[in-house]
Amino acid sequence: ASRFADVKLGPPIEVFAVNKACVDDPHPDKVNLTIGAYRTDEGKPWVLPVVRKTERQMAADETLNHEYLPVLGLEAFSSAATSMLLGPDHPAIAEGRAFGVQTLSGTGALRVGAEFLSRQLKYSTFYMSNPSWENHRLVFFNAGFTEFREYRYWDAANRTIDFSGLIEDLKAAPENSVIILHACAHNPTGCDPTHEQWEKIADVIKEKKLFPFFDSAYQGFASGDLDKDAWAVRCFVSRGFELVCAQSFAKNFGLYNERVGNLTMVLKDKQFVPQVKSQVTLIVRGMYSNPPNHGGRIVSTVLNNPQLFEEWKECIRTMANRILSMRSGLKQRLQALGTPGTWDHITTQIGMFSYTGLTPRQVEHLVNHYHVYLLKSGRINMCGVTSHNIDYLAKAIHETVL
Ligand code: PMP
Repeated sequence: ASRFADVKLGPPIEVFAVNKACVDDPHPDKVNLTIGAYRTDEGKPWVLPVVRKTERQMAADETLNHEYLPVLGLEAFSSAATSMLLGPDHPAIAEGRAFGVQTLSGTGALRVGAEFLSRQLKYSTFYMSNPSWENHRLVFFNAGFTEFREYRYWDAANRTIDFSGLIEDLKAAPENSVIILHACAHNPTGCDPTHEQWEKIADVIKEKKLFPFFDSAYQGFASGDLDKDAWAVRCFVSRGFELVCAQSFAKNFGLYNERVGNLTMVLKDKQFVPQVKSQVTLIVRGMYSNPPNHGGRIVSTVLNNPQLFEEWKECIRTMANRILSMRSGLKQRLQALGTPGTWDHITTQIGMFSYTGLTPRQVEHLVNHYHVYLLKSGRINMCGVTSHNIDYLAKAIHETVL
């Protein structure tokens, strides 16, 4: 008998399963609105020109080698990533109480951060928004958290944030609960709190002695502006919170498979930094020993070079603007067709995703009759919309909703 005979088949991961169904579909008009990855208006993946250029320079540089990086990664990368998040002139950086750790993309940063909070600070309860990026749950459980709770976030009737529900749930959270907050471009709803709402969230987190854990997977990609997209994190840091923030460079650099991420940690005082860093070092050492070089080197080269940095900012504006124009194009078409319901949320939502409000039955209909692939929740990746398929998509949604 096999030792593996009793292993149960795990559930499929929806987003990968639906994507595969689309890839396998031979229909010429199929539309893939599943995986969160940027596509050009031709529906193709995009290697940012500034990334290509930097890779060429790296390939030609005979001084580079394949030696191991330190356990906490490239210092030039992690400090640039932390500056990008907090703003280069933030006092927390000058005071030496904010630092970064290079991680295996945003997911790795979430894991290292969660594991530190669970092992070192003995936190055991985490909250995520309902709905949220579904992987938060698995990552936090695997990192040692034992208590999972949700705070209300989505108001389905009004297709907006259920802010009073959110505040009520946070107010009821036990002390030291870790609150996962999407820094910008909330996945999957595309709805972010206003500045005023963020201030209120911060008030409750402070009053109830909760711990803010930001997840920043879309800085710059959401609005096209790095500062705007970091507003919430900077607001908390300026108010004196200790916090951690997982940063992903998958979307804003188009470096999905290179696994480039950073965990920024902000402490009250720099005297605690060496001890904290030493414990993070042990977590990483025991998990994967040290991070890969290629993507971190690209990002650090670009962020640390003023000319390349400008070229990169142009790239993120290009991506953000294409998404914004697809949002308004889709809304206009649905309104012109007289599709029942309101569609303003398509343009008020921000980032890669839109929570359309389509029901599971409507989603099924879109997949089966129109070969338009999206998640059961009605979440669509706006990057899958192009000027070639936008009319077809609007018509498919219209006929489905009618
Ligand atoms: N958090 C959120 C909210 C995300 O949407 C994503 C990417 N889908 C991630 C974290 C992590 O992505 P990655 O590990 O590829 O950086």
